[in-house]
Amino acid sequence: MNILIMGVAGAGKGTMAERIKEHYNIPHISSGEMFREAIRQETPLGKLAKQYIDHGLLVPDDVTITMVKERLAKPDCTNGYLLDGFPRTMIQTGAFEKAMDDLDKKLDIVINLNVDFEVLEERITGRRLCKDCGAIYNIHNHKPKIEGVCDICGGELYQRSDDTTNQLRIRLTEYEHLTKPVIDFYIGKGDVIQIDASQPVEDVWNDLKKALEALNG
Ligand code: AMP
Repeated sequence: MNILIMGVAGAGKGTMAERIKEHYNIPHISSGEMFREAIRQETPLGKLAKQYIDHGLLVPDDVTITMVKERLAKPDCTNGYLLDGFPRTMIQTGAFEKAMDDLDKKLDIVINLNVDFEVLEERITGRRLCKDCGAIYNIHNHKPKIEGVCDICGGELYQRSDDTTNQLRIRLTEYEHLTKPVIDFYIGKGDVIQIDASQPVEDVWNDLKKALEALNG
């Protein structure tokens, strides 16, 4: 199954993506995570992306499109993929649709996670990630057993430099301008399932699973 998951930062895309990936055994392709990896590796792409990400801005379309297109062409995407964080602009959407045609693939479904601002703010400012395995925690409602240490692998937890209220506001404005048209485009095609992502994680996952099962069955 080829799935696209959408939602503003903090909507829980990363958490739901992990579950979908396990459930359907498909690769999780996150453009944000690809950029963060490039930043960690200090590659030319990483250095460029960092200048935008640190200011809560989108990385330019051409760079982003090339990076994701190359990833989608890899053999592990043959039996499906879960795309997260891309396409985020209409230019990226046009390039993505064309790339899918060229690869003779079709997007099956778009999941849109909807969430209230207050919930978002708590999630964003409380979010901590493991440097080593990428596990996600929250200092308000999903604390690690030992502060600053990953329960799973013992790795050090860190806060993303763009996870602040100020950056959240910038990202939301940008989302409204650039990404909402993408969602509207897929709504127009009848491909979107809407999920209330303000709920606790297990409830969001149950709704999501039900919607995906209804699609398959
Ligand atoms: P995310 O992990 O999806 O929240 O992405 C983190 C940051 O990476 C974003 O705020 C952008 O700066 C950048 N980014 C991720 N995906 C894209 C994309 N599709 N287009 C442009 N910038 C992106």
